[in-house]
Amino acid sequence: MLYKFCPECGKKLRMRKMWDEGEVPFCDGCDIAWYEHPAPCIITLAVNQFEEVALLRQDYIMENNYVLVAGYIKPGETAEETAFREVEEEIGVKLDSISRVRSFAIPEKELLMLGYVGFGDKVDLNLSTEVDSAVWVPAKEALEKLKGSEIAYRILEAYLEDPEGIRRSADEKRQFLPERE
Ligand SMILES: [Zn+2]
Repeated sequence: MLYKFCPECGKKLRMRKMWDEGEVPFCDGCDIAWYEHPAPCIITLAVNQFEEVALLRQDYIMENNYVLVAGYIKPGETAEETAFREVEEEIGVKLDSISRVRSFAIPEKELLMLGYVGFGDKVDLNLSTEVDSAVWVPAKEALEKLKGSEIAYRILEAYLEDPEGIRRSADEKRQFLPERE
């Protein structure tokens, strides 16, 4: 969002040249430049030991299409912590490891989505109230079901290109993960 008024004091902002950033809305009262930033969020493909992936239906996001677990990063959280938290909250799966595959910019929604593949044991999916339904689907059959959801499709596609490599990379990154009780 390009701010017109200061979010702190409500004063009208003026455009001020900020070095390499060019002209940025600036509050003379607070002495703060209000840069435009996308909101960071995560999207995670959860994979179990049988090479099945968790597909969700969330009609409030997209009707008649499967999606993946996704959510906003809260202040103070790392992206990995968000991925672990959201997967557990939305479908009841405790991940053991994750690997980031790529990120996606969605300028029209002012989002930066960080795409992860997360690995955890197969459990009965225990859904939050935000999720209408969820199923484990063999990874290779899931591509067809994600055709209506481009980012989810691309993450699964990236996973299917190198499932062993991504699992190994997730294993190697365990030291960066949130502590599990
Ligand atoms: Zn201000």
